[in-house]
Amino acid sequence: MRVAVVRETRPQEKRVALVPELVGRLTGAGLDVVVETGAGLTAFHTDDAYRDAGADVRDDVLEGSDVILSVQPLDPVRVANLKPGAITLSFIPTASELEFVRQARDAGVTACAMELVPRISRAQSMDALTSQALVAGYRAVLVAAERLPRFFPLSMTAAGTVPPAQALVLGAGVAGLQAIATARRLGARVDAYDVRAASAEEIRSLGARFVELDLPSLEGAGGYAREMTEERAQQQRDLLAPYVTAADVVITTAAVPGRSAPLLVERDAVEAMKPGSVVVDLAAESGGNVEGSRPGEELTVGQTLLWGGANVPSQLPVHASRLYAANLVNLILLMTSEGEITVDLDDEIIDGVCVTHDGTVRHEPTRASLE
Ligand code: NAD
Repeated sequence: MRVAVVRETRPQEKRVALVPELVGRLTGAGLDVVVETGAGLTAFHTDDAYRDAGADVRDDVLEGSDVILSVQPLDPVRVANLKPGAITLSFIPTASELEFVRQARDAGVTACAMELVPRISRAQSMDALTSQALVAGYRAVLVAAERLPRFFPLSMTAAGTVPPAQALVLGAGVAGLQAIATARRLGARVDAYDVRAASAEEIRSLGARFVELDLPSLEGAGGYAREMTEERAQQQRDLLAPYVTAADVVITTAAVPGRSAPLLVERDAVEAMKPGSVVVDLAAESGGNVEGSRPGEELTVGQTLLWGGANVPSQLPVHASRLYAANLVNLILLMTSEGEITVDLDDEIIDGVCVTHDGTVRHEPTRASLE
């Protein structure tokens, strides 16, 4: 069976769904790999590197392919031309990709969404949300460090002592914990907060201080946060404001699955920060944790720089691609036996990721949106 890797076409998408290093894992399982010409260039992989790794490289890869790998969902027009029974593996932000889902359903394509990999131990090696959040958390700190007009670490010099920068990380899931670890490695003092009580231990284990607010925990099913009432959200913002204004750097990463991002920081608090402070909002694309942040934009609020993230993992395309590709390969190999790829809906992981299969939409919220 043939696995195809497409060149990403959406603006600002620099990742590629398969890297040369991992081609051998697919060919070793009896699969043919074909890569669209130039697919890896924005992630610094040449066509020759794919050829040397055992892939075929050509201009048209979709026709006749059984599995199609991409980072962003395929253009709906291209989905309509896939053969019935073909499988696509990509991120599918289903709420904004209804046309893709409709075309996949009508073409009899099995469309798998990497966001939907269940968060169970057996699926950890396929968890693309985690791998990309790691990249985003790391990048957020580098963005802040580069823009901050002062040191992160404590420096004791003959010319005097420079105190370390004070960073505040809000939301301590995968991205937040990576941001804490990175800020600590650069020498900042770090405070961090999350609504899940369980995060306190993780925050402390990275050498940061857990910010205790006088509010009950909001831990919901599966370890995810639950949405809160507006009254509680306001209390949280008020209690966090002094920590925000005391920080040189604020990095926000808070999310609630299936909802827009919670607003954690109001404009007044940002305006009251020290001149030259930096706020990085990794949740800008899903509504923003910081009032006024906009994805892909760098704004000035008072004398603070407010950076809104837009497709942040793609800003480090080499390792974001390497990790994402490993997630995809692990998922394909789960579906492969003796060179044949099958969709076994009795497997919890496959069942979880399949948005469309055999002419139906299986993902309940998406089906409801299409009706
Ligand atoms: P996420 O991206 O959905 O959210 C990021 C963080 O924001 C979460 O920690 C959440 O609690 C926090 N948050 C939400 N509302 C908030 C608010 N109002 N104020 C402050 N923080 C708020 O989360 P994620 O990074 O994908 O991880 C969520 C959980 O899943 C974590 O407990 C993580 O350890 C766990 N996880 C488990 C697995 C696995 O078992 N395979 C894999 C990855 C993550």
